[in-house]
Amino acid sequence: MTEDRDRHSTRYAHLGEALGTDFFFVREQFTDEQWDRFIAVRKFVDDEVLPDIAEYWEKAELPWHLFRRLPELGVVGEDIQGYGAAAMSPLACGLVHMELHRGDGSLGTFLAVHAGLAMQSIAMCGSDEQKQRWLPAMSTLDRIGAFALTEPEHGSDSVALETTARRDGDHWVLDGAKRWIGNGTIADLVVVWARDTDSGDVLGFVVETPAEGYHAEVITGKVSLRSVWQSDIRLTGVRVPDENRLVNARSFKDAARVLASTRGTCAWMALGHATAGYEAALRYATERQQFGKPLASFQIVQERLVRMLADLTGMQLYCMQLARLADAGRLSPTVAGLAKMHNTRTARAILSEARDLLGGNGILLEHHVVRHWADIESIHTFEGTETMQTLIVGRDITGIGAFT
Ligand SMILES: Cc1cc2nc3c(=O)[nH]c(=O)nc-3n(C[C@H](O)[C@H](O)[C@H](O)COP(=O)(O)OP(=O)(O)OC[C@H]3O[C@@H](n4cnc5c(N)ncnc54)[C@H](O)[C@@H]3O)c2cc1C
Repeated sequence: MTEDRDRHSTRYAHLGEALGTDFFFVREQFTDEQWDRFIAVRKFVDDEVLPDIAEYWEKAELPWHLFRRLPELGVVGEDIQGYGAAAMSPLACGLVHMELHRGDGSLGTFLAVHAGLAMQSIAMCGSDEQKQRWLPAMSTLDRIGAFALTEPEHGSDSVALETTARRDGDHWVLDGAKRWIGNGTIADLVVVWARDTDSGDVLGFVVETPAEGYHAEVITGKVSLRSVWQSDIRLTGVRVPDENRLVNARSFKDAARVLASTRGTCAWMALGHATAGYEAALRYATERQQFGKPLASFQIVQERLVRMLADLTGMQLYCMQLARLADAGRLSPTVAGLAKMHNTRTARAILSEARDLLGGNGILLEHHVVRHWADIESIHTFEGTETMQTLIVGRDITGIGAFT
């Protein structure tokens, strides 16, 4: 009986493995560097991530053994040049995020927060000395980063943040609260955005933990991205030396500059989740028999799979063009915003279809789809919700701002 149940429960466990969907042959355009990064991460996901991740997700535990593999794969540090960082081309960077999220959203989000937000804040807003001081150890994950912008009362309107920074001799004193901060309880270096009490400008500080007055608590009860932790942070008179103030972070625009660079990454993340959903549904439909035939032999099922493929292919083309524009230095925040909006919305629809096509098996963690279905909800929300991206693009095309 137990053996029979085990056989049934593992029968579709391979559903997460890559099928390599590429209906429009976009991969023919990859360079060797892009192929190498893509294939290395794909193999890592299939061989090492998929067998383990559901258990970590269910228990809401951090898969440290998988986090530690990221520097070994040479994918930490986005496009940052030097300091031991990955120095990836925009397309390679996108492919890495796509494949990690095809495997698991928590793993991908851990890297996106550490490298895409924390390392990029230092790379974009730090002095040469600050980059030299912090980036090399971050590239090897010897020091972990976090990015603290959102507050309990300010999410979409983070421009109105209330955390204060008061100058006190050669130090600054930080007071306030932050919410939803990825890696906030495990980070060694937390980039905190706070308002100068004198000028009213938003400045960026690197808080090195442990620090007196810095208190972070994991947000529990989360049903999305369970294997990466976000936290509530309290800053009570945290003293930061002036040498830890990011010298080129002079206003909220600089925090927004960092976020704009990662918005396109969210479109790639969504593509990874959607790919996982489509490929699992296709495989399942060819293997699962009902009414004496594979599900895939029914016209309605074929139509649903083809609609998913059409949407997925559209997402791939969006991402390819994002990478081309980034390569040419022409990727604007609004173009990246449209891609994030389109891809997270489309991924949600694909994952909903995929979950349904797996029937009851679709709600079991061992078949992967429901994990992606839950995880896409976070990507849909963080770094600017779908609605906020829509309003940003709306302002661009109409010339009329519908929010401040
Ligand atoms: C899993 C996860 C990880 C995160 N990681 C980080 C992190 O590492 N660092 C960090 O700083 N932040 C992080 N965030 C915070 C994230 O960026 C915010 O959750 C996001 O910006 C939305 O803010 P909010 O949750 O306060 O929602 P709200 O801003 O309260 O929005 C609620 C709803 O109202 C809508 N809305 C808001 N304003 C308008 C408007 N003007 N017109 C119409 N609709 C509107 C929104 O679209 C949304 O649907 C994370 C969030 C999550 C969920």
